[in-house]
Amino acid sequence: MRKYKHLFFDLDHTIWDFSTNEKITLSELFDKYNLEKYFANFDDFFSSYKPINADLWLKYRLGEIKKTDLSIGRFYNTFLTVGFDDHQAATQFANDFVTINPTKTSVIPHTFEVLDYLKPHYQMHIITNGFVETQHVKLEKSGLRPYFSKIFISEEIGYQKPKRGFFEYAIKSCNARKRESLVIGDSLEADIEGAKNFGLDHVFFNPDGIAVDAPVFAEIRSLLELKTML
Ligand SMILES: [Mg+2]
Repeated sequence: MRKYKHLFFDLDHTIWDFSTNEKITLSELFDKYNLEKYFANFDDFFSSYKPINADLWLKYRLGEIKKTDLSIGRFYNTFLTVGFDDHQAATQFANDFVTINPTKTSVIPHTFEVLDYLKPHYQMHIITNGFVETQHVKLEKSGLRPYFSKIFISEEIGYQKPKRGFFEYAIKSCNARKRESLVIGDSLEADIEGAKNFGLDHVFFNPDGIAVDAPVFAEIRSLLELKTML
């Protein structure tokens, strides 16, 4: 007898390889916008961008800034580090990024093998904090969409993970029981804390083996481990 009926997968960095896809997109845009005029090379640009983007994402999650402050601000602020003060260019770059990035199709290793294995036995759903217009494109283009019954996107629900309201909405919409539901995600703050606080079993996908100070229900380094667990 399988314990779970519903599996709730995070999307970015858990099955859709955000880091790889983001880097490919940004390097294409780096060339398109001739940013070599301002930055020594792409890696220089990318290492400025990464902490700026992470910081603005955190502020957005905490509700401190608006969506455009994140989506445009991350590029505007990166441009500013080299004295390139052009809000219009940053806005165009940001629009290109959100259009092109979701069309990239890299997935985390073993994603399809594991989803093929799980599909006959479970109802699978997506729980994601991304933007509405990007997350559906990612799922379609990458071929992930057919594996999932319901797609829960924070922007549509009105709550971000780890908010209780997000998980409550997802569970109720699936007519799922809490004890028959499992959350799988890479973010300790959004996925794991959220699942814990709402009383759901959870699997922390931790490919880099970062140190965890609070206990987690289960932890995996590779998605393949789900095949022995489920
Ligand atoms: Mg994630």
